[in-house]
Amino acid sequence: MNKKNIHKTSYYFDYAAATPMDPVVERVMRPFLNVVYGNASSLHRQGQAAKAALEASRSKIASLISARPEEIVFTAGGTESCNLAIMGVAGALGSRKGHFITSEIEHPAVLEPFKELARTGHLVTYLKTDKSGLVSLSELRKALKSNTVLVSIMYANNEIGAIEPIAEIGRFLNKVNAERAKRQLDKILFHTDACQVAGFCELSVSRLGVDLMSVNGSKIYGPKQSGFLFIKTGTRLKPMLLGGGQERGLRSGTENVAAAVGLAKALELAENQRDSQTRRVSLLGLKLHKLLSARVAGLELNGPALGFSRLPNNLNYTLPGVEGETMLLYLDAYGICVSTGSACSNNENKPSHVLRAIRVSDRAIRNNLRITLGRQTTTAQIRYLAKIFPRLITKIHSTVNQL
Ligand SMILES: *Cc1c(COP(=O)(O)O)cnc(C)c1O
Repeated sequence: MNKKNIHKTSYYFDYAAATPMDPVVERVMRPFLNVVYGNASSLHRQGQAAKAALEASRSKIASLISARPEEIVFTAGGTESCNLAIMGVAGALGSRKGHFITSEIEHPAVLEPFKELARTGHLVTYLKTDKSGLVSLSELRKALKSNTVLVSIMYANNEIGAIEPIAEIGRFLNKVNAERAKRQLDKILFHTDACQVAGFCELSVSRLGVDLMSVNGSKIYGPKQSGFLFIKTGTRLKPMLLGGGQERGLRSGTENVAAAVGLAKALELAENQRDSQTRRVSLLGLKLHKLLSARVAGLELNGPALGFSRLPNNLNYTLPGVEGETMLLYLDAYGICVSTGSACSNNENKPSHVLRAIRVSDRAIRNNLRITLGRQTTTAQIRYLAKIFPRLITKIHSTVNQL
């Protein structure tokens, strides 16, 4: 598809995969591309101006999540933040081996580092979720061992929108750690992958009780390949990138000042608009779900019920007798962009591990379709989708029956 066609696609329903950059974000970033372009480590005025912008962005992010500036490390996105958190904690153990806990429904940015931990001799536990994708505290309690080092649970799932009880887990681990301190056992660290939640969920690290939190810019109307890792003071990590020692030695490489500035602004906008957008998007999501359910017999929602521990912008369906990929291509012909399961697992063409984990059958997984809404979604777009959608289901049904 050429650029001209892309400009005509005003029916974008894939905000969980990528968001358009907010014009305000673009505007604040621009001077750092070609006016203030110095290396933030340089001592001259160009460098110092870049450094000042970098540190102002760090402070802004810190205050938005109730952290201290020195607890924020800029990275090149969610994948890098999650990798640094997990591999960094494991690396800080030196030659010791530990026990690591995560859930079955994590993003590959967490699951792949966990596989690497298992390959290198650590013990790993994958918590099962319930049928709606929620992790339970009792399962976590049962999984804990005396040598547990890290618990990594995502804040909200990118495929089915399930919001995990992060603050509850944080409080629970806090109590566990108080007991462990009496027995001279090391603290269990808590990481959350918060890449889907800014703009919808609370991000105060003190209220969540996390030691590590990963956030990216590309899902919150900021630049792609931008992100940060919150690292609570006193948490020891081994860096993955070795070099000039930038970001307090935790992330070497010339700082991407424009990305940091854009990320800070994106997070600020997300936080400022959190209540209003949550309300607006919830209503649109509910409206779309009602229209589709009324017009398409046998449509099934995967994940938590709407309005209950679910991101308000996420609708994940099993289509009645229609493959998700077929529907995606038909919708695309009408300028409507959706996704099947997770965009990341599409490349490999294997059934979504998230849908498997919540006990969706392999057959139903093939019929999976994800619709995610965002800031630019309007009632008119919802109506258009709800008009085209049932027609295409009928059309595909009749085509398949003729074969
Ligand atoms: C997108 C996403 C990531 C990866 O972030 P990148 O910025 O693409 O590296 C990690 N976790 C979740 C939940 C995501 O949605």
